[in-house]
Amino acid sequence: KNRVRFAPSPTGLLHVGNARTALYNWLFARHTEGDFLLRIEDTDLDRSEARHETQLIADLEWLGLSWDEGPGVEGPHAPYRQSERLGIYREHTDRLLAEGKAYRCFCTAEELETERQRAAAEHRPQVYSGRCRAVSATDSAARAASGEPFAVRLRIPDHPLRFHDIVRGEVEFPNETVSDPILVRSSGVPVYNYVVTVDDALMEISHVIRGDDHISNTPKQVAVYEAFGWPVPQFAHLSTILGSDRERLSKRHGATSIASFRDMGILPEALVNYLALLGWGAEDGRSETFTLDELTKVFKIERVTASPAIFDFDKLHWLNRHYLKLADPERIADLTWPYFEKAGLLPPPGSVSSGTRTWFSKLTALFVPSLDRLDQISGKADFLFHFNAVAARTSEENVPLLITETAQKVLDAFAARVRNMADPVTSEQFKRWMNEIKAETGARGKELFHPVRIALTGAHSGPEFDKLIPLIEEGSRLPLPVHISS
Ligand code: GLU
Repeated sequence: KNRVRFAPSPTGLLHVGNARTALYNWLFARHTEGDFLLRIEDTDLDRSEARHETQLIADLEWLGLSWDEGPGVEGPHAPYRQSERLGIYREHTDRLLAEGKAYRCFCTAEELETERQRAAAEHRPQVYSGRCRAVSATDSAARAASGEPFAVRLRIPDHPLRFHDIVRGEVEFPNETVSDPILVRSSGVPVYNYVVTVDDALMEISHVIRGDDHISNTPKQVAVYEAFGWPVPQFAHLSTILGSDRERLSKRHGATSIASFRDMGILPEALVNYLALLGWGAEDGRSETFTLDELTKVFKIERVTASPAIFDFDKLHWLNRHYLKLADPERIADLTWPYFEKAGLLPPPGSVSSGTRTWFSKLTALFVPSLDRLDQISGKADFLFHFNAVAARTSEENVPLLITETAQKVLDAFAARVRNMADPVTSEQFKRWMNEIKAETGARGKELFHPVRIALTGAHSGPEFDKLIPLIEEGSRLPLPVHISS
C-alpha cells in the first residue's frame, strides 16, 4: 500500500507551491488507494507558531484535502507533530552513535569557519573535513560526559548517493559533495534532514513527493536511510512554479497564499483544478476542467512534468468563471454577502428579512456571470445601493459615450422621467420610456442604450435591462437604500 505525506512547517501561510505538493500527494494516495498523512514539521521552535498550523489545517480542509493520519485523526504512528517526537529522535541518535554510524563533533564554530575559509582559498569544495571522525569512542564519551558541547554528525558512506526520482529518473550525488551532515546541533535540536528521514521511515512512507528545492537535501536523507538499514522510498521532486516573467513565483507576482485566493473569491474547486494543471496533464490532453473526484480517477504521478510551471492568473480566472457558473446560487450568495458587508452596503446576513435575502440571491445570480472572482461583485453592483450620478457621468470611459449631442438629449429625456417618478420603475414603464425617448430623440441602438445604462448603473456594460429593472424595482421596495435618481 502506498503511503505519502504532506509535511509543512507551520512558519507562515500555505502558498500555491506547497498547496500543489499537498494536492499531488493527496491525489497520488487516492488514485492508488493509499494513505495520505499530514505531519507538522515544527522543530524550528523560533519560527513555528500554533496559529500557522491552525490556518494551514483550515486551508487544506477548504481545498478538500483530507488526511488519513495526522493531527486530529490520530493513527498508529502518532504523534504527527515533530515537536512531540523529540524522544524518538534521541533514541535513534543513540543507536547511530552506538553503532558508529554517527559520531560526536566537538569542533567549535570558529574552527569550522577557519576550515571553510581555507577550503575557499584553496578552491576546494566547502565540506566538513571529518576531523572528529578520528576521536576514539572512549574519548568521545568522556568529553561528552564532562559537558563539552558537541553536534552529532553522520558518517557519509564511501559510495555515491543514489535515488530514483519519478520525475527526473536516476539521480546520483558524488559523496564528496555531501560531507558528514549534522544530525543534531550542539543545542540538542535535531535538524530537518535527520528528523524527516526518521519520520518517513517510521511512518512507512513509500513515496516522497515534494518541491524540487529539496533535491539537494535528498542525498543526505538517503545516507540516513542507509545508516539505519532502512529501505529508501521513491522520490518525486516537483518543478518550481514561476511567475509570468519566469522568475520564481513570489509576492511580487500578486497573491500566492491560499488564504488570499479564498479572500478574493476564488472557489476551492477552481483553485484545486488550477493547481492540478500546474505541472501535470491528463493522458488524453483533452480536458482542462477536473473536479477533485475526476482528478482522483485520472491522476498519474508519472505524468508530472520536469519543466517549471508558469503561474497564469488568467487561466485561474477562466477556471473560476467555469466553476462559478456551475455552483449552487445560494452558496454563491452566501460567499458574496461579506463583500457587500465589508463595503458597508449590507448589514450582517442574519439581520435581514427573507425578502432581502431573496433579492440578494437574484442580484448575485445576475452579476456572477460577469465575474472572474467574487470580490469584484460589490464594485459592479454597488450602484444598486448608492448610485453616484456625477461620478458615472464624469468617469473617464463614460465621458466619450456621453458627450455627443444625441447622448445628451437621451440623458435629459431620461432624467426628466426619473425626476417625476413617484413609484419604483417597473419593467413595463421602463420599456415605455425607452420607446418614448427613442421617438423623441431619434437615438437608437448603443446611442440610446449606453447613456441610459450609464445613468442607471454607472457603467456602459452590465446585466440586461430586462433582468436589471425588476431587480431595481424589487430592491426599492425593500428597506435598503436602493434608488434611481437623476
Ligand atoms: N517541512 C519541509 C518543508 O516544508 C518538508 C519538506 C519535505 O517534504 O521533506 O519544506
